Amino acid sequence: MARVPDVRGFNNVVFFTGAGMSAESGVPTYRGKGGIWKEYDYDNCACQEAFDRDPEYVWEFHNYRRELVSKCQPNDGHRWIARCERELAGPNKRVTVITQNIDGLHQAAGSETVIELHGSLWKLRCCVCDWRAEDLSAPLRELRCPQCEEAGRADVYKRPDIVWFGDSLANSNLVAVQEALTRCDLLISIGTSAVVYPAAQMPLIAKRGGALLVEVNPEETPLSDIYDVAIRGTATKALAAMCGGLDEAAS
Ligand code: NAD
Repeated sequence: MARVPDVRGFNNVVFFTGAGMSAESGVPTYRGKGGIWKEYDYDNCACQEAFDRDPEYVWEFHNYRRELVSKCQPNDGHRWIARCERELAGPNKRVTVITQNIDGLHQAAGSETVIELHGSLWKLRCCVCDWRAEDLSAPLRELRCPQCEEAGRADVYKRPDIVWFGDSLANSNLVAVQEALTRCDLLISIGTSAVVYPAAQMPLIAKRGGALLVEVNPEETPLSDIYDVAIRGTATKALAAMCGGLDEAAS
């Protein structure tokens, strides 16, 4: 394994995570072997046009994902990251998770400062009115917007509050990401194929600010060259190596 930094030596650590972060929890990644987009066509289940065309089918896909993810637990990697925040964050030290994942496993492991770039499988909104809610049920059975129904429109569906293909990222998230990446001195990117923009290029903001960049991925990615350290291993092993010092400090 490459020269592995110890997270304790840094003041502002950002964990930038993608689907590979949850692979060891049993959540399938999007691309590559066993990837979701090998089995499903995102034009039919992960964009607004598909939802407008056939909301029931789009919900069938998202209910399949809700059921699958609801059976998964955070892995040791999620737990190391949560522990970093608990033990390292203080008046002059920060630990932030910026995730492309929609599974909620960072929060389930105890992470509190989490920016969900692509939304959440567990959050819902209405495309017509301002109704929003969080709902952990799997599957979600009541698909119609209750507020629209009350106003006499029984045909309006709830929508997963996820950034689908063609959707824009929330402005508030972009501001928070910019702030976290500008001040960070260590960015650890974990389990992302770096092909979905604008998320893919976000680590460059940290690089421009002088942060040390670490890539954790069993495979190279199109952006591997920008990283100072490459750890070609799994999330759980790499995080144990980078965060294992917390055990020494505790003993
Ligand atoms: P990805 O599936 O493209 O890539 C996963 C990466 O994880 C791969 O590079 C793989 O080598 C790596 N990996 C696999 N196992 C690993 C392990 N154990 N440890 C570390 N790394 C491992 O996932 P991505 O990069 O997160 O994809 C980008 C984004 O595309 C997704 O996060 C998703 O939000 C997004 N997207 C989702 C939707 C949707 O509707 N849900 C729609 C559009 C885009």
